[in-house]
Amino acid sequence: MSSYAVPYSALATETALVKAELMQAVGNVLDSGRYILGPEVAAFEREFADYCQVKFSAGIANGTCALHLVLRGIGLEEGDEVITAPNSFIASASSISLAGAKPVFVDIGSDGNMDPQKLEATITKRTRAIIPVHLTGRPAKMKDILNIAQRRDLFVLEDAAQAVGASLHGKRVGSWGHAACFSLHPLKNLHAFGDGGMVTSQDPELLAKLVKSRNHGLANREQCDFWSFNCRLDEVQAAMLRVQLRHLDAWTAARRSLALRYNDLLRPYVEVPDEGPGEHCVFQTYVIKSSKRDDLKRYLNEHGVEALIHYATPIHLQPAAKDLGYSAADFPNTMEHVGKIMSLPLYPTLTHAQQDRVVELISSFCQKH
Ligand SMILES: *Cc1c(COP(=O)(O)O)cnc(C)c1O
Repeated sequence: MSSYAVPYSALATETALVKAELMQAVGNVLDSGRYILGPEVAAFEREFADYCQVKFSAGIANGTCALHLVLRGIGLEEGDEVITAPNSFIASASSISLAGAKPVFVDIGSDGNMDPQKLEATITKRTRAIIPVHLTGRPAKMKDILNIAQRRDLFVLEDAAQAVGASLHGKRVGSWGHAACFSLHPLKNLHAFGDGGMVTSQDPELLAKLVKSRNHGLANREQCDFWSFNCRLDEVQAAMLRVQLRHLDAWTAARRSLALRYNDLLRPYVEVPDEGPGEHCVFQTYVIKSSKRDDLKRYLNEHGVEALIHYATPIHLQPAAKDLGYSAADFPNTMEHVGKIMSLPLYPTLTHAQQDRVVELISSFCQKH
């Protein structure tokens, strides 16, 4: 158990609510004797594709492998460039590097996502693809990004790891780009009990290739078409994910209702994450901004509220990115953003009393400072 009165997450509490269904699903897999690429993965792929309003999806071992395999599949060459946002989780960029290309970053807009107005100037002769990230569960500006990508003939891969169920103008994330990647990590809104990932696409050829590349490059038991990895989603995880998917809309509604309640209650004290026009956000993280962030975070932590920062160091300033040659001055909006952001506890089982405690502390801090 967490020592915080309001912990950042409450996975065991949420799992307890559906444990009987999960145990049943696991039991069925154990009894079936099919543990790898069986009927549960196939059924989850159909259900997940429907959920994301796309034709196809493929189960992958985790979100990072999903990004990596799609990027490998488009045949990047040394010196090719792929553009993404610098304030994401590191996998948005490491997957580019691991696929043999160079990560290139573009600054973010006031929504915390890739700024399409800065995108065009970042494109060079070597640019091959763009990875917009729907960070925190807020859809990136896909219409503008796709307009630019179409004009410049670039592949668009959505990093929808944090955004399952989010939509823009009524169209779900995962259905906008040439392909999209999702993470099913325990801290994501739809999660496995361990690692998991998905790729969605409308393109049957892309999906057919991915189904091989997640499984050693095998076309069938006998024939290997190209060298590849073992990046499969497990049957037992897929069976549990099918249970989770049936509850996802209710969980998302609970998250949204708590997030909008936070917005109303916290608006006098800090900058709150209001939705933009046409956006339907799923609040995988609930992120406020404050110019006194570090003191406020310490105050909350000392008073029993577990607040975190996602992410304190942007990717372009990581030691791993040293060779790319970026400096803090390159992306002023990103730097301003990461200096102010703080993630508050938000999950379907968070009570109003817990939420009121968070609000009360933020209010008392702001009255003192
Ligand atoms: C979680 C996450 C990933 C990586 O997913 P894993 O399943 O943990 O490998 C990639 N991108 C973003 C934006 C993420 O939040």
